[in-house]
Amino acid sequence: MSQLTDETDETDDFGFATDVLIIGAGPAGLYGAYYAGFRGLSITVMDVLPQLGGQISAMYPEKPIFDIAGFLSVRGRDLVDGLVAQAEPYAPRYLLGHRAVELTHGVDGRPVVRSDQGATVRAGAVVITGGVGTFTPRALPAGEEFLGRGLEYFVPDPSVHTDKDVVVVGGGDSAFDWAAMLSPIARSVTLVHRTARFRAHAASVAKVRSLGVEIVTDCEVSRLSGSTHLEQAEIRHRTTKETRLLPAGSVVAALGFLADLGPLRHWGLDLQARTITVDTRMATNLPRVFAAGDITDYPGKVRLISVGFGEAATAVNNAATVIDPEAALFPGHSTEKEH
Ligand SMILES: Cc1cc2nc3c(=O)[nH]c(=O)nc-3n(C[C@H](O)[C@H](O)[C@H](O)COP(=O)(O)OP(=O)(O)OC[C@H]3O[C@@H](n4cnc5c(N)ncnc54)[C@H](O)[C@@H]3O)c2cc1C
Repeated sequence: MSQLTDETDETDDFGFATDVLIIGAGPAGLYGAYYAGFRGLSITVMDVLPQLGGQISAMYPEKPIFDIAGFLSVRGRDLVDGLVAQAEPYAPRYLLGHRAVELTHGVDGRPVVRSDQGATVRAGAVVITGGVGTFTPRALPAGEEFLGRGLEYFVPDPSVHTDKDVVVVGGGDSAFDWAAMLSPIARSVTLVHRTARFRAHAASVAKVRSLGVEIVTDCEVSRLSGSTHLEQAEIRHRTTKETRLLPAGSVVAALGFLADLGPLRHWGLDLQARTITVDTRMATNLPRVFAAGDITDYPGKVRLISVGFGEAATAVNNAATVIDPEAALFPGHSTEKEH
């Protein structure tokens, strides 16, 4: 591992310095990246997931969102694309697939964050936008070996299911949303759930029924099979134990997520259950460490994307004054800056 330098430029693949390190590339983190860039700060954004967009990309990329300021409705994927494009002119460095595992402070008082992939980032300030923490999909008990070869836990790109026989497993909103989303492009969609009771919104269930998706209840996936790629899913009735083979070019298992703050628990942050206590500056109890978005807590907190945007702006502008004590808290109006 190389020495860190005082420069904000990268020094090698694994050890470098940055003005602002944002942990979590959900909507709050991406908007924070824009704001840091707008303030003239160099930015690094780290996320354990392989894609940008946090919960939106992972769970509802195709859903219209109705409560984003200025949009009658915006598709999740389009909101993420817009946030990424807004930060793009400031060239954030994205470390995707990196889980932030350790936070320490150097002798100069600056935070140093290490990732599980060996990146060591020394930052002027850290903004934690970790949402609900790292969310790990609940595994399908049968057929883990087909993960990436037909078995999926997310639908980041619906087009990969085009003209396939798709089996969606689960009874919650994601399962029904994905079934509805894939129905127009897949050869067939079958939704399999272990009971006849669904957690999904009644309107989503009605929509899937209206699309002609076959809904099979009281059954579980008992086996996946195929040669190189997934070809069939065997389902078994939970009481009669009867089995049935479904053609399956892909299986989308929407069995929920396990959310966990994970390593953040051991950083000495003032935590409440799964959230980080912040003050009105979005400052945590640790020096030069701020937080924004779903992960923060204070009296009256409302967990919405719109609130996370405001918190990200507050966190980054306050971080700017910590990085440079001469800097003003108020960034100026964007209308008055050259772009
Ligand atoms: C189905 C569904 C529908 C929703 N609809 C709406 C809606 O209509 N309107 C609305 O306002 N909100 C809605 N929400 C909630 C909204 O998605 C969240 O409020 C928002 O995503 C929170 O943004 P965030 O940036 O704070 O965190 P997140 O989107 O959760 O992103 C956090 C990111 O941090 C990463 N991370 C966590 N810990 C680490 C670590 N140690 N190292 C590296 N990376 C880490 C995670 O991988 C994740 O990508 C909905 C949520 C769901 C599930």
